[in-house]
Amino acid sequence: MKTTPLTENLIQLTRLRFVNAYLVREDDGLTLVDTTTRGSADALIAAASAAGAPIRRVALTHGHGDHVGSVDALKERLGDSAEVLMPELDARIHAGEKVVDGKLPGSWPTLKTCPDQVLRAGDRVGSLEVIATPGHSPGHVAFRDTRDNSVIAGDTYTTYGKAAVSNHFYWRFPLAAMATWDKAKDLESARTLRGLEPSLLAVGHGRAIRQPAAAMDAAIARAGR
Ligand SMILES: [Zn+2]
Repeated sequence: MKTTPLTENLIQLTRLRFVNAYLVREDDGLTLVDTTTRGSADALIAAASAAGAPIRRVALTHGHGDHVGSVDALKERLGDSAEVLMPELDARIHAGEKVVDGKLPGSWPTLKTCPDQVLRAGDRVGSLEVIATPGHSPGHVAFRDTRDNSVIAGDTYTTYGKAAVSNHFYWRFPLAAMATWDKAKDLESARTLRGLEPSLLAVGHGRAIRQPAAAMDAAIARAGR
């Protein structure tokens, strides 16, 4: 697990050079945003230890396997000391409910863990504000740190080479578009995130971008073509 400090409150954790999770520093410990793929629990806990605080919450941007892959193993190791928070619609999909018509792309592995709390637009997770960004998955959310306006955008954008909206195929990371449920909503969510004027854009796949306005504008322009 590669560790990249981004701000005083935000640490990027990268597994297999392809998928990111994040540690967000709070007064009572750490919020882990996403868990990467299966088999990452020990490395995520070790990264939290290295950051000097316990994981208090595991907050998920969406329900796809490359983000929830280590939730069960983390819950087993952390028990009641950490709560699991998942966007409402994606939690209902994981619970077996049919919440959308038609085919649901992306991987939806079976989870043992029921979230302790579901996330809705406007909720707070410590310092993070929940931003509804449906499209890549039905319930997809982003997290805005109210302290410095950095944004953890999940898979609405990827940033391999340059920022790209996951509503269309981009040769550097075609998996993102293949897993996207509703391309129009995804683009609308990309615009929502741009409207937040983030100071930093952190994503599920790729590097973080500081002062990302121009990169996001260019990505939205390419995506809308
Ligand atoms: Zn992903």
